[in-house]
Amino acid sequence: MNTATKPEAIKDASMLKQKEMIARNYDALTGAPESGKKIVSTFVPGNLNELISSFGLLNNLPEINAINNGMRKQSGGMIMDAERSGHSEDVCTYVKADIGMMSKGNIAPNGKVMPPPNLLLLSYTGCFTFMKWFELLRKEYNCDTVMLQVPYTGDGVITDNMRKFVVKQLKEEVIPALEKTSGVKFDIDLLRENLARSAKAEDDLVWVLESAKNVRSPIDAYFGGVYYIGPIFTAFRGTQDAIEYYQLLRSEIEQRLKDGLGPITPEGDMGEEKYRLVVEGPPNWTSFREFWKMFYDEGAVVVASTYTKVGGVYDEGFRHDPTNPLESLADYCLGCYTNRNMPSRVGLIEKYMNEYQADGLLINSIKSCNSFSAGQLMMMNEIEKRTGKPGAFIETDLVDPRYFSAANVKNRLESYFQMLDQKRRSSRKTA
Ligand code: SF4
Repeated sequence: MNTATKPEAIKDASMLKQKEMIARNYDALTGAPESGKKIVSTFVPGNLNELISSFGLLNNLPEINAINNGMRKQSGGMIMDAERSGHSEDVCTYVKADIGMMSKGNIAPNGKVMPPPNLLLLSYTGCFTFMKWFELLRKEYNCDTVMLQVPYTGDGVITDNMRKFVVKQLKEEVIPALEKTSGVKFDIDLLRENLARSAKAEDDLVWVLESAKNVRSPIDAYFGGVYYIGPIFTAFRGTQDAIEYYQLLRSEIEQRLKDGLGPITPEGDMGEEKYRLVVEGPPNWTSFREFWKMFYDEGAVVVASTYTKVGGVYDEGFRHDPTNPLESLADYCLGCYTNRNMPSRVGLIEKYMNEYQADGLLINSIKSCNSFSAGQLMMMNEIEKRTGKPGAFIETDLVDPRYFSAANVKNRLESYFQMLDQKRRSSRKTA
């Protein structure tokens, strides 16, 4: 036996259920040529899963494939392949991991070939890379494409004109494209049923994320949070599976609260909660467990994160609404975190700092995410000014292992935690 092998992560029942759901979805995708089902590729922010599934279509999300390949330590080779074929070092590494996956035979995490999509549905919510990415895929697959143009909320508000503009495109472009791909006529009642199921799951997700307002938090809303958003940000919004997953998850967290427990980590229950943090930016996926360990070993819990809002901001009250189906899909797309302007993003973080009684803000800036790394230093300074709480800035990457320097990140985090200790001691003295 190799004693150096990493121990298996400890998993709750909800994690096992999610694992089974994801595996089933990959089997449905890779089995599409046999089942005759059609595939729509789309992105997480602004995804129209309820609409897609109302046509009996399957949903494939390239970012999720890149994350899977990152966590299974496959993405490094894929990125190098993409760079060898001419994609520059600065290109978003999700894109390069996807292009590299294709060049390696497009093997899905279940070991089977991912069939080409029948339709590329670009719901454009704030990141220009999405558009370039689908241009590359269109060239590769030569399949139908449709684009939903979602106006950027530059003034921080969703206006009625914006909503009407999105609804018009849904009616005149997106729905006809989905009808053509599936051969199925649009049925608004099926969409309503899906949206009603989404709203139920969204209620439980929000309850789970807000449980971190308790001091001691029963969850980690970043490292644990990425598992909690899994079903709702991907192919399961609008399904009975999602309802059951979030009910199960909620009952587990209710129990942790009753038992006075902190978050579950891959190594079991977390010890004492020493620091409460808000985090901006996605995690690094290639060293995910190592990165998380740097926090729980030091007693640092992430109580709120913006990354867990990229596929939908639900904690400000938005729910998918079966009584206004197309308008609510429009509002969902318009309100995505990726579609918000800088003052709205800063305002959201400030709210989290206060409502979740955080000790500080940590920014994990992503080297190859040009869309969202810009302005993050300003965000940190602004939050420090508004809350009086110290911020810290680290830089890693999504799925490129070359840009995760464990020693540097650990050093930076350790000195940040020391600074938080000092700050706490000096504020006790002044009190
Ligand atoms: S938001 Fe960032 S990480 Fe996501 S696709 Fe755009 S550039 Fe890549």
